[in-house]
Amino acid sequence: TPLTTIDALRRAVEHAPQRPFLLFEGLSFSYKDIAAIAACWAARLRAVGVERGDRVALFLENSPAFVTAYLGTHMIGAIVVLVNTLYRQTELRHILNDSAAKVVIVGDQAHADLLRQANAPGVVIFASDVVLEGADDAPDWTRAPEPGDIALIGYTSGTTGRSKGAMLTHANLMANSAAVTVAWHWTEHDRLLLTLPLFHIHGLGVGLNGTLYTASTVDLRRGFDAADVLDTLARGETTMFFGVPTMYTRLIAEARRRQAAGASARVDGMRLFVSGSAPLSPQTFAEFEELFGHRILERYGMTETVMNLTNPYDGERRPGTVGMPFPGQEARIVDVRTRQPLPDGEIGEIQVRGPHVFAGYWRNPQATAEAFDADGWFNTGDLGWRSADGYFTITGRARELIISGGYNIYPREVEEVLLAHPAVSEAAVVGLPDAEFGEQVVAVVVPATSATDSLEQELIDWCRARLASYKKPRRIVFVASLPRNALGKVQKHVMQQQLTPSGA
Ligand code: ATP
Ligand code: MG
Repeated sequence: TPLTTIDALRRAVEHAPQRPFLLFEGLSFSYKDIAAIAACWAARLRAVGVERGDRVALFLENSPAFVTAYLGTHMIGAIVVLVNTLYRQTELRHILNDSAAKVVIVGDQAHADLLRQANAPGVVIFASDVVLEGADDAPDWTRAPEPGDIALIGYTSGTTGRSKGAMLTHANLMANSAAVTVAWHWTEHDRLLLTLPLFHIHGLGVGLNGTLYTASTVDLRRGFDAADVLDTLARGETTMFFGVPTMYTRLIAEARRRQAAGASARVDGMRLFVSGSAPLSPQTFAEFEELFGHRILERYGMTETVMNLTNPYDGERRPGTVGMPFPGQEARIVDVRTRQPLPDGEIGEIQVRGPHVFAGYWRNPQATAEAFDADGWFNTGDLGWRSADGYFTITGRARELIISGGYNIYPREVEEVLLAHPAVSEAAVVGLPDAEFGEQVVAVVVPATSATDSLEQELIDWCRARLASYKKPRRIVFVASLPRNALGKVQKHVMQQQLTPSGA
C-alpha cells in the first residue's frame, strides 16, 4: 500500500495510466496526464528555488491546476499550505507569514492583488504559467518524499479562535485514505462527485486523496450548485457524493421543487452519500431518505486528524450519531476535568489516537503539547458520549460548554429545542458572563419570519416546558443572520464578543 501521495500516484500511473483521474468542465485527465502536468509544476517550483521542506501555498479555486500543483509540490518533497480562497488581508497575512511560504500559487490577477494588498511574503506564480508542454515526458520520481515528511499544513477553520496550522505527514494522509477506503468500500470503479473546496481537509484529505489512493475517478466542480448536482446524479455515472449538511438541505429543497414541477429526482448508480464537517440534523437525514431512498452516512473529522469516526457502511447508520472509529484507529471519552475515561452514556471530551493523527501544530510547540496527553491521545476539543453498542454522539465543543450556577449546559441541546419551534429558522446558544451564576444562557435566533414582540417570552416558555429550568435562555437576541466562517460554521466567540458589553 502507498505510504506517500507520490507512491499512490506512481502506482496508478504504472497500473492504469489511461484511467480518468480527474473530470473538470468537460475535460478528462488520465493518471498519466496528471502525473505529467504535476512534473511540470515540480520543474517550475524548482526553477524558483523551492526545495524539500519548503512551503508552497495554494491560493486556488478547485481546478486541474490545484490538483497538479498539489502533486507537483509533493514530487519534490515540498509542503503544501492550504489557503481558503475566501480569505482576505488579515487571514492571508496570518497564514502566509506563519507558514513562511516561499511560493504562493494563484488562479488569477484578483487573487494576486489581494496578496499584494496583504503584503504577504512569497513569490507569486500564476496557475496559467504552467502549460502542458512537455507533458509527455515521464515524471522524475527521484525527489519523492518519505512517509514521515510533512505533506501539508492545513489551517483549522477558525471556528473557536485564530486558525492553527496542523502538520499532516504523508503517512498520516495515507493512513486516513486506507481507513476511509476500506470503511466505505471505495474501489477503482467509483466515481466521486466532489463539490467541496479542495483547500479544506474534507475536500482534499477525504475526496481527492481517497480518489488517488484507490486510483478511481473524481468529477470535480468549482463549487456546489444543487441543480447541477441533481442533473449530474441523474446521468447515472456517479457512485458517491460527499457534502456538508447545508448541501443536503439544499438538495432536498431542489428535489422538492422538481417534484412540484412534475419532474423526478433520480440518483441511479449512486451507492453512497456522506455528510460531515458539521452536525447533520436527524430531520434532514429522514427527509433525504424519504426523497432519495438513501441513508446518509455521517462521519466526524477535523483538520488535525482528517477522519475519526464513521457510521457503518453495512450496519445501521444511526441519525444524530457519527458512528465508531475507522479501522486502525481508537477513540474514547474522558472527563473534562480529571481526564479519566468515562463509562458509556456520559458526556466528556472525545480523544482519538492512531496513525491518522497529525504531527503537531506548525511552529507552535505549546499548542501541540496541550493537544496531547502522556499516552499520545489527542484532545479533539469536541464533547460527546458513546452508547453501549459503540455509537458516538457529538454534543458540542468543549470551549462552548456553558457552566451556569455549577450546572453544565450543552448549547446544542438547547439549540435543538429552539429549532423545533416553527418561528425559529436558526439558533445559536452561548454563555455570557454573569455576576451571580458565572455564566448565563443567551440564545441568538434568526426568526423564520419577522419577530413579534411576544416571541422572546414565547421561546423562553417553550424551552422551560421542554428542558430543565437552568438550561432555558435568560435572554433571546434576534438577528438577521448568524456570524459564520468561510465554511459556514457558526462563530460563537464572535457572538460572545458582540453581546458582551465592553469592560464586562
Ligand atoms: P478551529 O479549530 O480553528 O476552531 P474548526 O474546528 O471548525 O476550527 P475544522 O478542523 O475545519 O476547524 O473542523 C473540525 C470540527 O468540525 C470538529 O472538531 C467538529 O467540531 C466539527 N465536525 C466535523 N464533523 C462533524 C460532525 N459530523 N458533527 C458535528 N461536528 C462535526
Ligand atoms: Mg478545531
